[in-house]
Amino acid sequence: MSDALWVDLHTHTSASDGDLSPAELVDAAKGLGLGAVAVTDHDTVEGISEAMTRGMAIGFEVIPGVEISVEVGKGGTFHLLGFYVEVNNPELRSTLHRLQRARSERNDRILECLTELGMPLDREVLARCAGDGQMGRPHMAQAMVQQGYVASVEEAFSRYLRKGAPAYVDKFRMGPKAAISMIRRAKGVPVLAHPYTLKCPTELELEFLVARLEEEAGLMGIEVLYPDHAPQQAAHYRYLANKYGLVMTGGTDFHGKTKPDVLLGWGRGDLRVPYAWAEALRQRVGEIRGSTGRFVLDKTRRRG
Ligand code: AMP
Ligand code: ZN
Ligand code: FE
Ligand code: FE
Repeated sequence: MSDALWVDLHTHTSASDGDLSPAELVDAAKGLGLGAVAVTDHDTVEGISEAMTRGMAIGFEVIPGVEISVEVGKGGTFHLLGFYVEVNNPELRSTLHRLQRARSERNDRILECLTELGMPLDREVLARCAGDGQMGRPHMAQAMVQQGYVASVEEAFSRYLRKGAPAYVDKFRMGPKAAISMIRRAKGVPVLAHPYTLKCPTELELEFLVARLEEEAGLMGIEVLYPDHAPQQAAHYRYLANKYGLVMTGGTDFHGKTKPDVLLGWGRGDLRVPYAWAEALRQRVGEIRGSTGRFVLDKTRRRG
């Protein structure tokens, strides 16, 4: 097994709510002996250029990506990963700006809720927690811990910030099909992230959704390996990937301190995402871009 090479295809940096800078993340991934790392920050590609530059400087493969929160019914959460998106694509950039504005307005409303609940957050504490990147609930949770309102980030989420909790405020999200087709127009590979968070009541319901998104919008992949996936869930996602011709991806969703039990590369210790999955992803990019680099809608690999 000594020549086995593993990758991490889902990570966050300080450009969103991770705490390593993009360059630090790339150094850490190389230090662990990984074969590649994908940078998939929430609603932003601002960390990509630093990560790619660092990767080139130290001879390490960096896969550009993004993670977008998408509209979904009921109590679930739908995150879409977009690998190899062209970061300067004008539509991608303007869409991300719109999502960032929505996030910022939502953040203001959460802060108002926390104030009403008797937990005003100090601007400076919050700014220190958020750093230069996109602010998210994890930063507010950290500030709540620092101000002594809760004992841990986990408690901040479970009592106040999780969906349905008293300080939760929703934000504008794109519809799944619009998000998938936008990623494809930005020449990226759209992948359904951590499918368990959709909270589909049955395996069949998830299958219908995946089939529909593949057929109607051009979904190209599914995240099979993830620290919170039970083996049985991962097996079902693998089955869906095979059945619908989707690439399999896997990653830790590494954030650093806000998810202290999740390690880069290995998740809770036992995650192993094969390098071949990164290669398969790259192959799909080649297919959608064609030799001229132009966007070609790929129907040839579809079923039937
Ligand atoms: P936001 O982008 O502001 O909606 O925040 C979403 C992020 O919050 C997720 O990507 C996770 O990093 C984090 N998060 C969500 N739920 C929890 C939780 N229960 N404990 C810790 N972090 C969480
Ligand atoms: Zn996050
Ligand atoms: Fe996510
Ligand atoms: Fe994530």
